[in-house]
Amino acid sequence: MSKEFSELIKDVKEQVKYLEELGVENLNANLPEISISQKSEIRVTKSQNEISQDRLEKFVPTKDILKDVISKNKGAEEKIESERPKRRSRLLDSARLSRLPSLPKRNLSNRNLQQKQDKINEQRGEKDKMAEPKLNDTLFGDISETLPESSETIEEIRAEIGDCTRCPLHEGRTNIVHSTGNRQSDLMFVGEAPGADEDAKGEPFVGRAGKLLNKIIEAIGMKREDVFIGNINRCRPPGNRQPTPEESETCKPYLLREISIVKPKVIVVLGNTAMKNLLDTKVGITKMRGKFVDYYGVKVMPTFHPAYLLRDPRKKREVWEDMKMVRDEIEKSAE
Ligand code: SF4
Repeated sequence: MSKEFSELIKDVKEQVKYLEELGVENLNANLPEISISQKSEIRVTKSQNEISQDRLEKFVPTKDILKDVISKNKGAEEKIESERPKRRSRLLDSARLSRLPSLPKRNLSNRNLQQKQDKINEQRGEKDKMAEPKLNDTLFGDISETLPESSETIEEIRAEIGDCTRCPLHEGRTNIVHSTGNRQSDLMFVGEAPGADEDAKGEPFVGRAGKLLNKIIEAIGMKREDVFIGNINRCRPPGNRQPTPEESETCKPYLLREISIVKPKVIVVLGNTAMKNLLDTKVGITKMRGKFVDYYGVKVMPTFHPAYLLRDPRKKREVWEDMKMVRDEIEKSAE
């Protein structure tokens, strides 16, 4: 019994303290101090004055006291209820923290800092590696070293495309722009999507950018009719915007099947969007250009799009460097 009294007093004290913390006034609760003797005899003191057990028992029905106090403090009940979970969680947190062993002192010596930096550098390196295209996982959905054998024809692919409405780009197009050129060519060019001129004529690379592409082809001693030219998307995006990833993913398989038929030695992929879509990479064209990427036994050279060269002719030098490597690779493969 004495234990129960003790607990009750403790409880009441806590609640009163809590109410005071919340700003409840007029508590007038001069709570008794209690001590339990070895004989379980309760001695209760209040402000140096002893109070009787009888008085203590009167004091014990804490609910009544609290109700009375709360009724004197308008709005306090709601405040108590809303604060209760926060207070409980604070108490639990502090209890948990107090049980934790203290942390060893952090030693931030130069050696430790260097180790930390090395770790960050290592992680960065890993990240860069992850950003590199994983070509063998992406082309035709299987893992193979070379292009899959194809028994279909370009005409069969075109027939399958038909009056295509597989992606939203069909809504604004005038013509589907199919790939064209030499179907036995060693060299293939891949762009992003048709522009206004291409949409009107139904042929890839026929506008100003197309004329510049013709010059680029001629610069390495070939003619337009010698090469095969296509786009990832065959319909013009409205306002020449970039095709969405979904639109590209819908149309790309037709181009991949054409690559499998033509089996070029080299593919020149033109511009950032086409390169990212074809190679399934997040690395930008500036970093990727000027180096061959092996793509199922086909060498892919990423370079700037002719439309970009029209805006910034200084970049022609880089494209020329890339195209010389393309020419050399084709010559080497013909030996
Ligand atoms: S872009 Fe390709 S998938 Fe989309 S409607 Fe045109 S042909 Fe079909």
